[in-house]
Amino acid sequence: DWAALKSPLRRFLDACHADFSVETGGAVANYIPELGKADPNHFGISLATIDGYVYEVGDSREPFTIQSMSKPFVFALALDTLGADHVESAIGVEPSGDPFNSIRLDANNHPFNPMVNAGAIACSALIREAEGDGAFEYIRQALGRFAGRELGVDEAVFASESATGDRNRAIAYMLRNSGVIKDDVSKVLEVYFRQCSVLVTARDSAVMAATLANHGINPVTGEQVVTPYAVSRTLSVMTSSGMYDYAGEWIYRVGIPAKSGVGGGILAALPARLGLGSYSPRLDSHGNSVRGIKVCEALSAHYDLHMLNRS
Ligand code: GLN
Repeated sequence: DWAALKSPLRRFLDACHADFSVETGGAVANYIPELGKADPNHFGISLATIDGYVYEVGDSREPFTIQSMSKPFVFALALDTLGADHVESAIGVEPSGDPFNSIRLDANNHPFNPMVNAGAIACSALIREAEGDGAFEYIRQALGRFAGRELGVDEAVFASESATGDRNRAIAYMLRNSGVIKDDVSKVLEVYFRQCSVLVTARDSAVMAATLANHGINPVTGEQVVTPYAVSRTLSVMTSSGMYDYAGEWIYRVGIPAKSGVGGGILAALPARLGLGSYSPRLDSHGNSVRGIKVCEALSAHYDLHMLNRS
């Protein structure tokens, strides 16, 4: 009997998948029209341990666009590429309490933090400062090192967001007005929209999160992708702002640094333990995956993983 041979963690993930498959609350994002084509029933879960073992359940190899889950990795990359002083003088680290697409900036007219669109667009601009027209390729390759494999782009989602992304254009123009962006706004947004259109799976998300949990070393490939400084500061902003205007509730209830994306992904990184990736495209009103939140809540409760309850 194969079920009897499954590890307790494997059985727990299978049970989560079965239990939450019946959850049909929330709605697939359609403000980027192409995202509306996602199959709302897709549901994949993956968990990567820091010793490099990867568990997978359901649609764990189904590709979806990374969207805002790119933000922590591009922030970490910016810290290492441009130096912390440069990045930290351009982008704040305060939670905004606002939705991800808020056009509100902080008192200095800088982004509140790198996890909301304003801060992420500023990160993309910083990478362009260092890498010029090679910026997107530089980001794509770095995201691939976090995932442990080469990642592609969903050109249809990119075109769809470019065609409808006026709110992000408004944010980028405000950042140019306050000097955070010095570059051509359309070139910065091309990098940002492309980085949001990178295709990942739940498995990739788990390995990417596990790389953050493992001091920046990908536990599957063994590659040091970013520095420990970039990792700890990235996990800090994921803790305070990764789930947008749900961040307080999230860190209180789940207690694991995490980041969501409107493609339906959530990744969570518990330092020195594991990375979790989930994919289910039905979102709540904050833009967070409904089933993904349930998986993280259940995992945290079952294994007592709240990061402030460590012994
Ligand atoms: N590309 C999306 C946007 O800028 C990312 C938002 C998200 O995933 N929360 O609106």
